[in-house]
Parts: sequence; structure tokens; C-alpha cells
Amino acid sequence: MAMDTSGGAEKTLHPTLALFGGAFNPVHRGHLALASEIEARLGLREILFMPTGAPPHKEAPEISCEERKFMLDLAIRDHPGWRSSDIECRMEGLSYTFRTIAALAIDPPPFFVMGEDAFADFWSWGQPEVILSGTHLLVVTRPGADGRGTREGVFTVLRASGLLDPLAAETVAGVREGLLREAVWGLPFFGTTLRYLRIDAVDVSSTDLRKGLAGKDRDRWADLLPEAVKSYIVKKGIYRGFP
Ligand code: ATP
Repeated sequence: MAMDTSGGAEKTLHPTLALFGGAFNPVHRGHLALASEIEARLGLREILFMPTGAPPHKEAPEISCEERKFMLDLAIRDHPGWRSSDIECRMEGLSYTFRTIAALAIDPPPFFVMGEDAFADFWSWGQPEVILSGTHLLVVTRPGADGRGTREGVFTVLRASGLLDPLAAETVAGVREGLLREAVWGLPFFGTTLRYLRIDAVDVSSTDLRKGLAGKDRDRWADLLPEAVKSYIVKKGIYRGFP
């Protein structure tokens, strides 16, 4: 069951474009499964994958942004409507998401996709208000993520956005107790929405994958990579020497 407490006052038109940022170091089947599911469930026409240059909250990846984008392009090349952008590769300094959103200035606002692990500390990101004004946040489940963090994150965003009525509180509880597959809340201060989707995620992270590819079970781990990315990584021997 989906519940809508958006009140219909947002700057939308249901978005047909989703921005999907991440390190993609490397892109894996979990990323692609996520993209396929949101595309189908939200009726998207386009997904723009944006590899991050120098993320503010993580160490800079040892594989260059250009090479991560190259692998991403191998992974998505046969999928109509999926594109990548080097906007964050070209950005000088740290790749703050708010800078990307401000630079893109897409109108009407697209979705901005986040796994719930990333969303749990969303409020500590640089200028989250800019992200909330310029996009509709789309939070998706991730195996192993702390559901409490997600629930608190939703409350924080709703409170900051002028919406915390009893119905919204009830929906947040419903989301975490697994009663809802989907929920959407309007954000009155920002004129956008916050949406939650429980997805059939694939349990893999790039960190585990990098460790796996550096170890003796390399072949088994490589199966979690899209086929063309697997061939590229094997041929170039990358991820062999470091986790
Ligand atoms: P790392 O382990 O290095 O943190 P990651 O696997 O989380 O990498 P990122 O490229 O940083 O990959 O993730 C980009 C976005 O995709 C984040 O919002 C993250 O939550 C989401 N994501 C990554 N893997 C999955 C997955 N298996 N299921 C659902 N969401 C995912």
C-alpha cells in the first residue's frame, strides 16, 4: 500500500528524470537493480548517473572519476534513457551535491536518488536546503542499513520543511515497520517532496566488492559486476592490489 501525504502543493509535475550520484567505485549490480526498479515503479524516462569527483564525506577514490565514469558507461550503454554526466569530475574542489544541483538548475525539479545509508546523515551534508529546493528526494532501502537512521532522517527533513502533522508521523512509522512499500510527503517550505521506496535491493557494496576483487575469491565477486565492466576490470587488472 502506498500513502500520500503530499497535499498536492508541490512544484511538480511528477518528475520523469532521476539524478543518481555516487562513487561508483566500481558500479555494481546493486546500482543497476536500483535504477531498473525506480525506473519501472516511477515511470521514469531518464536516469542521469553522476560519478562523484572528490566526495566531502569519504576518502577520494583511488580510481579516477573519468575511469569510474568509463565503467559506468560500459554498464549502461545498452539501456535507453540511462546516461552519465561528468559534471562532478570537472568540478574543482569537493563534490558537494548542493553545488551540482545548483549548477544543473533543472526545472521542474528531478528526483535525487539516495540509498538509505547515505540518507541517514543527509542533514549533515553541505547546504541540504539547496538540495531539497532543487530536487524531489527519493530514498530507497538498502540491505544492512540502519532503519532507525532512515526514520530519524525522514523526521528531520519533515520538521525542517514545515510538515510534521500526525498523519505524516503515522506514515513514517508505517514505513519502518514494513507496512508500506512506498510513501510520499510534501515539503511545504521547499515546494518539493520526499519519497520513500522499499526496493528489492541486491546486497552488495562497492567497498566489499573492492576487497573481494583483491582477494582469492576474485571470480565469485566479479559476478556482481555488470558483464562489460567485469571484462574491463579483468583485462586492466584494476582493484587487484588494494581494497
Ligand atoms: P561504498 O561501499 O564504497 O560506500 P556503495 O556500494 O555504497 O559504495 P556508491 O556508489 O557510493 O556505492 O552508492 C551510490 C548510491 O547508491 C548511494 O546512495 C547508495 O546508498 C546506493 N547504493 C549502492 N549500492 C546499493 C545497493 N546494493 N542497494 C541499494 N542502494 C545502493
